[in-house]
Amino acid sequence: MRYIIQFGDTLYAIAARFGLPLRDLLAANPQITQPDLIFPGQVIEIPDTGQPAQTFRYVIRPGDTMYRIAQRFRISITALLAANPQIENPSQIVPGEIVYIPRRTMRQYVVQPGDTLYRIARSFDISLQRLIEANPGVDPTRLQIGQVLTIPESFPREIVIPREDYGYDEMMADLEALVQQYPFLAMTTIGQSVLGRSIPAVRLGVGPKEVHYNASFHANEYITTSVLMKFIEEYAQALAENRSIGRFHIPTLYNQTSLWIVPMVNPDGVELVLEGITPANPYFEEVLAINGGSRSFSGWKANIRGVDLNDQFPANWEEEAARRAPDGPAPRDYPGPAPLSEPESQAMAQFTRDHDFRLIIAFHTQGEVIYWGYRGLEPPEAEQIVRRFAEVSGYLPIRDVESDAGYRDWFIQEYRRPGFTVELGKGVNPLPFEQFWNIWGKTIGILLTGLVV
Ligand SMILES: [Zn+2]
Repeated sequence: MRYIIQFGDTLYAIAARFGLPLRDLLAANPQITQPDLIFPGQVIEIPDTGQPAQTFRYVIRPGDTMYRIAQRFRISITALLAANPQIENPSQIVPGEIVYIPRRTMRQYVVQPGDTLYRIARSFDISLQRLIEANPGVDPTRLQIGQVLTIPESFPREIVIPREDYGYDEMMADLEALVQQYPFLAMTTIGQSVLGRSIPAVRLGVGPKEVHYNASFHANEYITTSVLMKFIEEYAQALAENRSIGRFHIPTLYNQTSLWIVPMVNPDGVELVLEGITPANPYFEEVLAINGGSRSFSGWKANIRGVDLNDQFPANWEEEAARRAPDGPAPRDYPGPAPLSEPESQAMAQFTRDHDFRLIIAFHTQGEVIYWGYRGLEPPEAEQIVRRFAEVSGYLPIRDVESDAGYRDWFIQEYRRPGFTVELGKGVNPLPFEQFWNIWGKTIGILLTGLVV
């Protein structure tokens, strides 16, 4: 089929929207020699994928059954089977195989006087292109009053559901689902935790300007992970629909910026706080000893070896160690036997050195404040930027923290670029998830503004 490039389109976003690998789209359009040079009005060919209309692709995972898949996507088993006539024996599906998931039922709309397709699309929060695709028989220039239009659902499905038990496995499952639904998301691993969990990083955007956000340096601050996961989904959704979030046009940001998100720096610590510990854990006895025998880990910030990962960086580490720190493993504040002694902090340092971040934000809880200075080493623009963050969040900027050896301290010291610690929410860690949407509302402006300053 033919497709006319719209303002703000990128080939990545178009490929994603049609469920195609980018290379297939390029192969079908040999006239495009520079994929980053396309212009509105240009006509391109969308190759036929054999994929039924109004479906998206899902790769079968171990343990899946057709029934479970139907349940997971909240569709009927009949609808799922109908969309997948290529599957000969639905009781014998193989991991790695593709199934097509029908998008859920469509709504109908009767055209009113004064309507235009554009206005209708806007009112249902869908793109004009999707509305046209859903109504192949309709001539967009001759809309008739009383005509019935099919309105596609505003979006396939919500993947990230912030909830009380949102830990490492939930995050990994969601990342996998997000990458499947939005193939333009790129995921890599920056290293491994003490217990061998891989620490993922997600890249949003292909632009030359690199920005970095991270969450859950501290174990009992895991609500920060949900915030960044939700942001990944919101961003991807807006990009796939070629639209803005507020005044931020996401397809433009996608081309200008590469945002690297590490949603959980300390997976072992987060799992300890959420799940507790069993004798199967190689650190079982050590952890209980560090925790004074208590099985409640709600005050635990450290990694599984009792090292505070945000006290590990070579930015006046010796002073930090001498000043306030426990001299051995502890639930919080122990900076370790040496700077960067832990695999998680090593991974973060290496990841940072491998990039050219123009700005970083570390998300913690709690206090509704934003730290922006470090020993006067921060660039002057940090103050202007934090003012904008304060405007969009209502959070209070604070210049100095009386501590050293944090990730942000090190970033500012090494690169003399803007680095911020944003303390989300208010209360006692771990913050309850009933605060999530309130925190989200105050944070979304920071998350977006960080990409344009
Ligand atoms: Zn913290």
